[in-house]
Amino acid sequence: MRDWLQREPILIAEGKGAVLRDVRGREYLDANSSIWTNLHGHQHPTLNTAIRRQLGKIAHSSALGLANEPASVLAEKLIEIANQFFDLRFTICDSAAKPARKSEIANRKLAKVFFSDDGSTALEVALKLAYEFTRRARSADSLSAKKKAAEPKFLSLAGAYHGDTVGAVALGHIDLFHRSYSGLLFKTDKVMAPYCYRCPFNQARPERADAREYRKCHWECIGKVEQRFSAQKKTGNPYAAFVFEPLIQGAAGMIPQPPGWLHQAADVAWAHGALLIADEVMTGFGRCGVESRESRVEGHTKPIRPSTLDPRPSTSLFACHHEGVQPDFLCLAKGLTGGYLPMAATLTTRKIFNAFLGRYEEFKTFYHGHSYTANQLGAAAALANLKILQSPESVRSRQALEKILHEELPALWSLPNVGDIRQVGLMAGIELVKNWRTREPYALHERAGIRVCDAMARRGVLTRPIGNVIVLMPPYCATRAQVSRMVAALGDSVKTVLRG
Ligand code: PMP
Repeated sequence: MRDWLQREPILIAEGKGAVLRDVRGREYLDANSSIWTNLHGHQHPTLNTAIRRQLGKIAHSSALGLANEPASVLAEKLIEIANQFFDLRFTICDSAAKPARKSEIANRKLAKVFFSDDGSTALEVALKLAYEFTRRARSADSLSAKKKAAEPKFLSLAGAYHGDTVGAVALGHIDLFHRSYSGLLFKTDKVMAPYCYRCPFNQARPERADAREYRKCHWECIGKVEQRFSAQKKTGNPYAAFVFEPLIQGAAGMIPQPPGWLHQAADVAWAHGALLIADEVMTGFGRCGVESRESRVEGHTKPIRPSTLDPRPSTSLFACHHEGVQPDFLCLAKGLTGGYLPMAATLTTRKIFNAFLGRYEEFKTFYHGHSYTANQLGAAAALANLKILQSPESVRSRQALEKILHEELPALWSLPNVGDIRQVGLMAGIELVKNWRTREPYALHERAGIRVCDAMARRGVLTRPIGNVIVLMPPYCATRAQVSRMVAALGDSVKTVLRG
């Protein structure tokens, strides 16, 4: 904290598109989309108009015991887009599925939305619902008294970050952030997450390419997931839920999963009867790119669910769908309002919802509600955001930005202090190392990432590091020239700070 107190923060006064301006009039590129929230740029006319229009009616009224129009329409819309890909795949490709499979698929349909305020609370809601659902399901089952009394347990990934509230912290496994609070937390288990660049099972020597592409392994990371689930089952208290960020772990260090990991891990969890909690706080709303059938199949060691692949291109906004996975809980925040207002949503199935229905005196209600739940201004912004995201222009600009990043980032391979460049859709993590041939990392106290980001700020580009990893996550409106400036500022800063 001392170094933060010692320096003058940049005071942001306004923004337009991908550009932020400080109180002195100096301009910066918003290279991390204002901590991964902003989708279409600042001062987007559609979002501004939607919020102004809503402001002319009402800004906020409580949703406790009441409802309101924008939030109800938003819930309906979220359910529609969260099942769009799923329904399509089922009806087109799986019409010959067996009845049991059909009912399983119907059970997995996301049907209900619980609104809250931010990413952490979206996870808290999923956590509490999954916990209580499991407890109730077990007490209704013919299990032994001991099994009925066993506390539902959660499994999440090594390096996981799911927010800063206490329940979300309990799901996390970043020692630096979480260790001090261990006394406050309930115990969760962790399992190895795929991190190809630093995977002890990856036999490949470092190359100048994304480590996922040249890895040599036998999917030991999936083996670890299987082992963890089996070991827990033997205790008589199988995991209630598996919590994960799909396709890429953000705050863990922008760590992408090799294609195929997600659906294999989800299959293991399903086979063990665990609920799936997908944290799409960062990955959702198109951040993982505009998927197509090709992008889902390309590079996979074996085709993903070939019998159920949708033969038509899909524009699902959610990372889970890139691998045909439909979770039991879909947690959304950050980009939900296009990065304008704090609002979150936890989507779940009717089956989970029904477990909380009962006569008044049964007290089965989900006792959870925030003052600003279903805030009208946030809902109006979110509806406008979804409209933009679903427009052909937005799809085209996201495709273009993904391509631009793909073309601009490789320039950084020429730097010996760049060890890995990991792009997933419209975001990338660049891991800095002392020597790319040995992958030797910088010690935390060397502040390599912080120093590089400070140097980037002096060059008019704002982002934040995660340890030694620099995040590039431009708003979807960023132009080639702007992306090129972001990459050049990163390259120059690495050269001067780490070699200078
Ligand atoms: N989950 C993920 C994957 C996140 O990246 C974050 C925030 N960076 C959160 C949850 C918590 O979100 P918030 O800061 O809005 O509480």
